[in-house]
Amino acid sequence: MLSTMQDVPLLISRILTHGSTIHGTSQVTTWTGEDEPHRRSFAEIGARAAQLAHALKDDLGVTGDERVATLAWNNAEHVEAYFAIPSMGAVLHTLNLRLPPEQLAWIVNHAADRVIIANGSLLPLLAPLLPHLKPVEHVVVTGPGDRSLLDGAAVGHIHVHEYEDLIAGKPTSYDWPELDERQAAAMCYTSGTTGDPKGVVYSHRSVYLHSMQVNMAQSMGLTDEDTSLVVVPQFHVNAWGLPHATFMTGVNMLMPDRFLQPAPLAAMIESERPTHAAAVPTIWQGLLAELTANPRDVSCLGQVTIGGSACPPSLMEAFDKLGMRVCHAWGMTETSPLGTIARPPAGVAAGTEEEFAYRLTQGRFPAGVEGRLTGPGGERLPWDGESAGELEVRGPWIAGAYYNGPDGEPLRPADKFSEDGWLKTGDVGTISADGYLTLTDRAKDVIKSGGEWISSVELENALMSHPDVAEAAVVAVPDDKWGERPLATVVLKEGSTATFETLRAFLADEGKIAKWQLPERWTIVEAVPKTSVGKFDKKVLRRQYAEGELDVTSL
Ligand code: AMP
Repeated sequence: MLSTMQDVPLLISRILTHGSTIHGTSQVTTWTGEDEPHRRSFAEIGARAAQLAHALKDDLGVTGDERVATLAWNNAEHVEAYFAIPSMGAVLHTLNLRLPPEQLAWIVNHAADRVIIANGSLLPLLAPLLPHLKPVEHVVVTGPGDRSLLDGAAVGHIHVHEYEDLIAGKPTSYDWPELDERQAAAMCYTSGTTGDPKGVVYSHRSVYLHSMQVNMAQSMGLTDEDTSLVVVPQFHVNAWGLPHATFMTGVNMLMPDRFLQPAPLAAMIESERPTHAAAVPTIWQGLLAELTANPRDVSCLGQVTIGGSACPPSLMEAFDKLGMRVCHAWGMTETSPLGTIARPPAGVAAGTEEEFAYRLTQGRFPAGVEGRLTGPGGERLPWDGESAGELEVRGPWIAGAYYNGPDGEPLRPADKFSEDGWLKTGDVGTISADGYLTLTDRAKDVIKSGGEWISSVELENALMSHPDVAEAAVVAVPDDKWGERPLATVVLKEGSTATFETLRAFLADEGKIAKWQLPERWTIVEAVPKTSVGKFDKKVLRRQYAEGELDVTSL
């Protein structure tokens, strides 16, 4: 028997219309670095999103599911793009401005982006790339920045527009199409250890359902009396779903734009008094150091969501003391990202060691996410808090494939998806009998630096392309500031004259490796330790480093 319920699609345009009418007076505040931040109401955002959609369709000819990319910080215009692009049926592609330029170009070409909406402050990054971006026909520039970088030859066939000029005078409402809720709404590339970056494509339905989960009391549980400081970038898994979730419930957003350093973050917390904030641990570690050096009243921040890498206990403790309660969560680009969230179970007394231990886990799965652990032989492991295996997940906001493999079909690599369609997360951990996930290790060896990934394989390959290098292995080592940094372990060929400085310069040469990814720590070994099947044994290297057995030079 079929239900008698209406079949109304779950669309991003519905979230936009709801937010800009029912919660029209809620605000997006963007930090400007000047005396007054910029403020725009949800109603204004809704009107301007409609204007942007008209401009994209009528002036730039965007039709169907064409990709419109953003290269932007967190700000009001980026929120407008978040809603206008999917609501009109096109696909929002958020570009990670911290990727090395060649990878960025690869991603734009792979996604076939036709338009890029870019912040003026990012033109120094974008302008040199433009000749390599084949599908791009239009660049739309917002906010301050040197437009002369886009003069003439740098731009080639691409048309350049001013965002404000483009949307000026356009109608402030749009007859949003009734799309299939399973249609692509947004995409985000993830860069793993091996191979090319992979595109995760979110649907209207997945974004809608994920937003509802984010808003639940046992997730972030915010209301229209809250203000969320959205530090997690809009180019990193849709800022953890916050722009969509806040439009559903009228939560005000405080956007830091490019002012992500500890001092301006502290200043915006003190003056705008957000009640919630979300970011990776390294951001909070920086803020903590700033607050220790220059104390300010940050007691407004009742809840801080931390994820992206494990939250150090010392950070949770220090934040608790400042009145900022940490809520730890786990997720991935492939999981939209909310996968688990660490709310202690009912009955556990506040302030106890037991409660603290629960809060340090990665947390429990919400109803929309199923989790299971798989052992090395493919066996299902019990939820006993001891059996460690690879975490696999499935659910309506979990990826089932990547965008467009080499044959034009969705890509389902066997190391990322099980035969029965679950996502293999690459994270290894245990699940307790009461459903709390604790991650113990990472199956892959990517280096998590400041919330962003550095591919060890990419560094190794670049190093081994140096004529004097016989072998090179790169492993993640702990770093107080960034969480992890790469340690380069190099085997030099006989008679080599290479030094660490020349190797580092070689990596930086021609933008092979982005500057922030260059290793500071270097060591020479006679041979890289190997596993029984001849692969680099990085566990051994990490242990040798931890036990001080390597002679490490810091540049
Ligand atoms: P990304 O796709 O860049 O968001 O990275 C996802 C990966 O970050 C996961 O597979 C984990 O390895 C790691 N990660 C995310 N959240 C946590 C957490 N709370 N604790 C430990 N690792 C995490």
